[in-house]
Amino acid sequence: MSHSTPNRPADRPTPTVEDYLMTMHVMERDYGEIIAARLAEMLNVTPATVAMTFKRMERDQWVVGKGRKGGVHLTESGRSAAYSVIRRHMLAELLLVKLIKVPIAETHNEAHGIEHSISPALEERLRKVLGDPEVCPHGNPFPGHEAATSHWIPLTELAAGQKGVIRRIHEFAEDNHALLGFLVENGIAPGAAAEITEVLPFNQTLTIRIKERAITLGFQAARYIYAEVT
Ligand SMILES: [Zn+2]
Ligand SMILES: [Zn+2]
Repeated sequence: MSHSTPNRPADRPTPTVEDYLMTMHVMERDYGEIIAARLAEMLNVTPATVAMTFKRMERDQWVVGKGRKGGVHLTESGRSAAYSVIRRHMLAELLLVKLIKVPIAETHNEAHGIEHSISPALEERLRKVLGDPEVCPHGNPFPGHEAATSHWIPLTELAAGQKGVIRRIHEFAEDNHALLGFLVENGIAPGAAAEITEVLPFNQTLTIRIKERAITLGFQAARYIYAEVT
């Protein structure tokens, strides 16, 4: 995985480490801790590979381990490297959606191929050209702009009869290609007006209506979708 690129500053982590940092930051931001087993699942590698990469990342001071059961945390330089790759990822997504009209079901994966080779100068130009954006095409916040999304509520916290506008599909759903494809295919995308029509806690499902279509989602997927209540 060592595709070196001429635009990569010398102090930037390798693309593999950048992928780790991006996911680890989102885990810490939203779930309070980094879970190695979950990371392995999300990055599609074995737990042994994660453990090995953690060792390298600790050596290079992107993360610190907190003893035997304290888990792993990003260092300050790890966090700013995570912010940097997340910004580049999101700018690449916006570029693909706005300029090349790539469907939002595909931008995430395409952006993964681009983000590692965007130089700081290009990043700055993209940011300006794209109008200093606050969220990616899926509604996830740029680092430092978390407040822009803080009033959007996961569908699992809404009751039957409540209406809203879909605003955000969480990064972890973006990473699940099958799920993201299903959502977009069914019109569950930022900007869509939706109504919760049924919540069945015993079944762990809820049903939403978008246009004339009723879509049933498990709580696990619904938790990744945020709406602005209207
Ligand atoms: Zn993405
Ligand atoms: Zn995105």
